[in-house]
Amino acid sequence: MPDTIAAAPAVTPADAATAVARLVGDRAGDWDRAGRLPAEVVRELNAAGLLAPQIPTGYGGLGWSSLDSGEFTARVGSLCSSLRSVMTSQGMAAWAVERLADRAQARSLLPRLAATDTAAVAFTEPQAGSDLSAMTTTVTVTGDTLLLHGHKVWVTAAEHADLLLTFARLGDQAAVVVVPRATPGVRVRRRAEPLGCRAAGHADVWFDAVRLPTSSLLGAGGQSMSLLVTTALSYGRLSVAWGCVGILRACLTAAVDHAGSRHQFGRPLAHHQLVARHLADLWSAEQIATRLCEHASRCWDTGSPDVVTATVLAKYVSSRNATRAAADAVQVLASAGAVDGHPVARAYRDAKLMEIIEGSTEMCQLMLADHVVNRR
Ligand code: FAD
Repeated sequence: MPDTIAAAPAVTPADAATAVARLVGDRAGDWDRAGRLPAEVVRELNAAGLLAPQIPTGYGGLGWSSLDSGEFTARVGSLCSSLRSVMTSQGMAAWAVERLADRAQARSLLPRLAATDTAAVAFTEPQAGSDLSAMTTTVTVTGDTLLLHGHKVWVTAAEHADLLLTFARLGDQAAVVVVPRATPGVRVRRRAEPLGCRAAGHADVWFDAVRLPTSSLLGAGGQSMSLLVTTALSYGRLSVAWGCVGILRACLTAAVDHAGSRHQFGRPLAHHQLVARHLADLWSAEQIATRLCEHASRCWDTGSPDVVTATVLAKYVSSRNATRAAADAVQVLASAGAVDGHPVARAYRDAKLMEIIEGSTEMCQLMLADHVVNRR
């Protein structure tokens, strides 16, 4: 670990939660409708080290545990899933660098990711979604130059990111290439009007004969594709799972507030048993997701060998619970929540996407089934 890179000024998780609530305020709905996060909000969070708070202090980061980082991710997720998505991409990029880069690359990249630069992680292609073994993006090396060709789709945060961590084939192995977005041959086109997380800067990216120094290959490349993908996705899955805890908490709060204050048939909605059942379901969904995320983060923090399975389980349950709970919250608020820009309407759209990304519900089910079959 280097000792020459200054650590970010200490920010406690409690201070960070207050700061992000101030930064977002009640503007997430406006950002969603505009399809854009204010650059200064992303910059301010990044400057405070909060886009990727798990980056070690030795590399200029905050060095938070997965548990602290997860609770903060839930806080951001309760306010704005687009901002949380940008955090997830930044954290995935930083984690991939931490795990795969050589020392010089880590010393160069991690302090930037901890304070100034933003990053997106590009693996999906038009014909390679759940099945990333179908990836066709290639990188070839000649002397000290590499050449990158390919096409990635749906890359969160790519519209504005400074760096694109791009997965590619390298001969019969694989590599992650760190591509500055401004490199000649890189073309980025915004994904118009996604169902949810509309301000997260989703974009498709083309790499047409992009030339870079071979030092842009994380750890010199030549790793197995499954190792690279599992490394990046494990971080992403846990971050998305905590983000879903945030969606669950936002839905629970909105539903409880509304059911307590709105009267029909002479009493608060909450006193009608069928509405009360929705509230019970919302709370239990939030509690179950929280406990699974806490468990996965503890596995992460203690280096437990169970971390991969615990993370898949947390992501699977949290995203499904968030989808169902957002629908329940819209049901409780009815016409009051059936408005574009209302937090529960936004949650309803955002939550569904969480069942698709970082390993869809079906991919998680296959992994969990494989786990129970093979541990016998
Ligand atoms: P497909 O793979 O075509 O799957 C379609 C359906 O079939 C899914 O329900 C899937 O679960 C199911 N299915 C597929 N194979 C099987 C099987 N063997 N058994 C059972 N069911 C199966 N990609 C990036 O690289 N970087 C990003 O930052 C990023 N961000 C994203 C953000 C959003 C909001 C979205 C929607 C996507 C993002 N993606 C990103 C892409 C995402 O990773 C893919 O959408 C995801 O992997 C699924 O791939 P697909 O959409 O091609 O679906």
